[in-house]
Amino acid sequence: MLNDVALKEKIKYYISNEKRDATWAVELAKQDILKIFESIDDEYIKERAVDIKDTTERIIRNLLGLSDNNFESIMEPVILVAHNLTPSDTAKLSKGKVAGFITEVGGKTSHVAIMAESLEIPAVASIGVGFIESIGNNDVAMIDGSSGNVIINPSTEDEQNFEVLKEKYELNRIKLTEFKNKQGSTKDNEIIVIEGNIGDVNDANSVLNNGGEGIGLFRTEFLFMDKDTLPTEEEQFIIYKEVASKFADKPVIIRTLDIGGDKNVPALSLPKEDNPFLGYRAIRISLKEPSLFKTQIKALLRASAFGDIWIMLPMISSLEEILESKKIIEEAKSELKNNNVSFNDKIKIGIMMEIPSAAISANVYAKYVDFFSIGTNDLIQYTLAVDRINEKVSNLYQPLHPSVLQLIKIIASAAKNNNIVCGVCGEMAGEETFAPVLVGLGVKSLSMSASKITQVKYALSKFTMSECKEIASKMLQAESESENREILREIVDSVLKDT
Ligand code: PEP
Ligand code: MG
Repeated sequence: MLNDVALKEKIKYYISNEKRDATWAVELAKQDILKIFESIDDEYIKERAVDIKDTTERIIRNLLGLSDNNFESIMEPVILVAHNLTPSDTAKLSKGKVAGFITEVGGKTSHVAIMAESLEIPAVASIGVGFIESIGNNDVAMIDGSSGNVIINPSTEDEQNFEVLKEKYELNRIKLTEFKNKQGSTKDNEIIVIEGNIGDVNDANSVLNNGGEGIGLFRTEFLFMDKDTLPTEEEQFIIYKEVASKFADKPVIIRTLDIGGDKNVPALSLPKEDNPFLGYRAIRISLKEPSLFKTQIKALLRASAFGDIWIMLPMISSLEEILESKKIIEEAKSELKNNNVSFNDKIKIGIMMEIPSAAISANVYAKYVDFFSIGTNDLIQYTLAVDRINEKVSNLYQPLHPSVLQLIKIIASAAKNNNIVCGVCGEMAGEETFAPVLVGLGVKSLSMSASKITQVKYALSKFTMSECKEIASKMLQAESESENREILREIVDSVLKDT
């Protein structure tokens, strides 16, 4: 179709004669050809108009450097293979149509991987550039999201092996359901709150169904993606209220908009940046766009009348950001009071601890907020200077790096000294083997995707508080990440491997 003379000539005509830019020329050529198709009295030929539309729109997307994410055209369950997916692409995936996906690039803590986890879609990220060339449409593939194993055009033996694995996985899940209704605690009954991370109301249902004891992180930015316009205060209020009501008196920690990095909100038309993770992101945007921020805060405050909502501020790197945010929250409160709108005046306000400078200043910040939540995904990335979505450096992305553990310890101790709550809501919290380590470092709550909740409750039930502290103290004294991996293998893995 790309070689179609009529299409080419029309595009050339619009560029040369009418001096249109390339994308507009393609659009005009499309419209001309579609008009001709519409006038033809043959159903078969009329339907071919769809092909013209698809092709030209694809050219336009390519000219604009936009990704081709026409997932609506997927009709039957497939394994999607892509060089990369954006979080807004992933938001469009439906579990029924996409049985699994594989990306050539991206990391375990990329938001795409995190969303796949919530959707409970098996996914293998970062399989390596060149994979797409080795596979064709309609090839049969099997993927194991747990091990990252992918087999193309499997043999009968491969299929049988996968069936065994699948059965084992299911049995394990069933076995773990006994932990669903048990309170999270160590072996000696020290309570550790096990909460869920969500991006929408559906995820909140999964957290409830899996025995989550609250919401430790609601990534509200997912409500802003995949839309032409920003959600209004009323639209946001309805969603926050629904989630808060579901959890009654259990905490629902709702994070204000955290866009930038690998998350884009097309409706905001933010310019592309060379260094997005270090750029215009999260609270930096909220403070520069106070009306956007205040709209969200008002929706959160109004919803706080219906449950135990806590407000969490992302990517805090200075005291000024905390104070400025609190000022806007106070303004929103006054405006609601003036209009006789009810809300929880004592709503808790906390911050994400995900930047090393915040960790180092934790003792100061603890005086100004009600809680800390450690975002290990970013804390690791910023501490080790390793891009969390770049597969080329994924070997350097090390959660057990001694410096990362030192920072977590500093944050947890500052929280304890100042009598405020400290949890972890990064992906580390959902790794069952890391749970005893984090608890030993002084963390009191862990928040993760729904599918991890029972596994982590089980893991914690195998260690006493003093064992957790001993593991953490050993790791804090280690000189390298490899030493810590060895400690984990010897002390934690050995206890959990029977699961
Ligand atoms: C984190 O950084 O650990 C975190 C929980 O936030 P996000 O993954 O959305 O950046
Ligand atoms: Mg983060």
